[in-house]
Amino acid sequence: MAQEYDLVILGGGTGGYVAAIRASQLGLKTAIVEKGKLGGTCLHKGCIPSKALLRSAEVFATAKKSDEFGVEIGDIQLNFPRVQERKEQIVEQLHRGVQHLMKQGKIDVYEGNGTILGPSIFSPMPGTISVAMKNGKENEMLIPKNVIIATGSRPRSLPGLDIDGQFILSSDEALQLKELPQSIIIVGGGVIGVEWASMLNDFGVVVTVIEYADRIVPTEDHEISKEAERILKKKGIKIVTKAKVLSETLEKTDNQVSISAEIKGEKQTFSAEKILVSVGRLANTENIGLQNTEIKIEKGFIEVNEYFQTEESHIYAIGDVIGGLQLAHVASHEGIVAVEHIANEKPTPIDYSLISKCIYSSPEMASVGFTENEAKEKGYNVKVGKFSFRAIGKALVYGEADGFVKIVADKDTNDILGVHMIGPHVTDMISEAGLARVLDATPWEVAHTIHPHPSLSEAIGEAALAVDGKAIHS
Ligand SMILES: Cc1cc2nc3c(=O)[nH]c(=O)nc-3n(C[C@H](O)[C@H](O)[C@H](O)COP(=O)(O)OP(=O)(O)OC[C@H]3O[C@@H](n4cnc5c(N)ncnc54)[C@H](O)[C@@H]3O)c2cc1C
Repeated sequence: MAQEYDLVILGGGTGGYVAAIRASQLGLKTAIVEKGKLGGTCLHKGCIPSKALLRSAEVFATAKKSDEFGVEIGDIQLNFPRVQERKEQIVEQLHRGVQHLMKQGKIDVYEGNGTILGPSIFSPMPGTISVAMKNGKENEMLIPKNVIIATGSRPRSLPGLDIDGQFILSSDEALQLKELPQSIIIVGGGVIGVEWASMLNDFGVVVTVIEYADRIVPTEDHEISKEAERILKKKGIKIVTKAKVLSETLEKTDNQVSISAEIKGEKQTFSAEKILVSVGRLANTENIGLQNTEIKIEKGFIEVNEYFQTEESHIYAIGDVIGGLQLAHVASHEGIVAVEHIANEKPTPIDYSLISKCIYSSPEMASVGFTENEAKEKGYNVKVGKFSFRAIGKALVYGEADGFVKIVADKDTNDILGVHMIGPHVTDMISEAGLARVLDATPWEVAHTIHPHPSLSEAIGEAALAVDGKAIHS
């Protein structure tokens, strides 16, 4: 029998399940359709498992240099199966948490593949959802007043570089490795590529990063990219930029794979045990019934307005499937805005320049707002303050003094336009800068937020003072 709902959400990833909780808070009768596992990419193939591995890599790397801290441990062994087990335990604990939240919110969860049907006997509007149930039972038919598409994304590869799970991996396969390779080539030096490069290097793998752009993490401020490259190279990672991978040169032997890249007009060949391809993600727009609707796709992503409505105003789309900043906290916030719009709560559209972005490599990177070059391109009269962690006592105590905080401000209005950080724990520090942007703070106000001593956050206060040439410890 067909079930009626105020809202059916297609996809139970970070975007979908958070939207469902908000809908339940607002009294909407809500269901989620999930073909894999609640929690989606972030919980099972993204944020959480990769950060669990990064933390193990960090502990291993710190243990190896423990004598610097006066702690002699002796022979240190990596137990990679235990590293993976720990990761799985964390994921499973959080998965149970999401399942509990669904029960608590009285949200019905349909385990199966959902497809949007066109106008049907159940409803004159496209939006009826047919669910091919995982348990093999008869299809469920759901009749919602509103739909949110939150079907997420999957790894992209390059033509000729097909993911085979043995020699050529995406992050999905890399997360499941049973043992570490001796060496790896990472194609793509964006966020995911750099996190993996840092993690595998800390685990002792020989890492080469091949990046097409003229710098790694090319969407970050140019000085952050430069500092990241310097630190990662110092740690032993080989990084080549302005390099076009030539897929046709791919060769696999028993336990090695080699590939060439064109660098400044010359061909250079790289060999390793495995290749990890991290060149972006494709939106999951296929096989969800979009052909039965008027919904438009633009450059591979579902087109939406500022409230995340598609061409069919009762069908919304959020998260990775609409492109833009493909981040978990972005997906969930988009879900909240969409649900509040459905419930006539008059939400404020998202200002994406206020969203913090983090990279969890060692060193960490974090940013909010415009880069220095973006601000200049937008016509701002820019002034910049920068402060190094080298002059921060807590960073020296911590044993991680590479990196800096950079604040980009508007000379005319004194507004903070962007904050960029590289160094220890900056992913936890960026929210101060995020709040400053939301409150339209000036560098003066940030500097007059007296930062405790000793703390890593003193670098933010000093960078704010540096904007007007008043840093104390520089
Ligand atoms: C290696 C890696 C590391 C990452 N690290 C971070 C990080 O540190 N911080 C961060 O903010 N972001 C990170 N991300 C990005 C983050 O995971 C995504 O932005 C986020 O998961 C997007 O959420 P979503 O709800 O849009 O989609 P997803 O999480 O992909 O969820 C979509 C869900 O829809 C389901 N689905 C798809 N089609 C159907 C269908 N027809 N019927 C039913 N169900 C369907 C899928 O099974 C999936 O569960 C990382 C990504 C990767 C790959």
